[in-house]
Amino acid sequence: MLNIVLFGPPGAGKGTQSENIITKYKLVHIATGDLFRKHLKEGTDLGQKAKQYMDAGNLVPDEVVIGMVDEKISEFPATKGFIFDGFPRTVAQAEALDELLKKNNTSISLMIALQVPDDELRQRIVLRGKTSERTDDQNIEKINNRIKVYKEETLPVAKYYQNQGKLAKVNGVGSIDEIFDHISKEIDKH
Ligand code: AMP
Repeated sequence: MLNIVLFGPPGAGKGTQSENIITKYKLVHIATGDLFRKHLKEGTDLGQKAKQYMDAGNLVPDEVVIGMVDEKISEFPATKGFIFDGFPRTVAQAEALDELLKKNNTSISLMIALQVPDDELRQRIVLRGKTSERTDDQNIEKINNRIKVYKEETLPVAKYYQNQGKLAKVNGVGSIDEIFDHISKEIDKH
């Protein structure tokens, strides 16, 4: 199986590049932010649990996220692989993901970490907020908090995969096609 973690700060282009990766490599996309937004829209208990954290730009508690991902993985026993987008966001989530994949006799193949400077991130998110329905994209304090949370709680996850020799850094500035070319080169090594 080919299991990829697509990593990067909010606004790095994970969603956009995931679409390209899924199309080319036929992987199942597990984007925890999208899953939470779906739960919110449908008014489920899980959506209720996640709402206050998402509204503030804070992380939803690990056990809630991990349970949701576990359920999702088990829906696709025959897939060629998964692309994890916006997950894992803490080292505890990364450890739990290793266990979940082990249970399914597989493991993470690589982490692709998109590199984008903070100023560019803010500009991109503000722009996205003009057309998306995402309230967390429409308030500069929330945006700054998400970038802060990323640095404090999520960045150590890159180290976790680096220690396993699985980290590939990719420049996330440039045209969508250019960036995807770099990503493909990294994936094709596997
Ligand atoms: P995203 O669409 O990935 O930017 O996620 C939107 C929001 O959903 C985040 O700001 C968090 O509140 C929540 N969220 C998404 N993925 C995770 C995760 N792996 N761990 C904790 N919270 C998450």
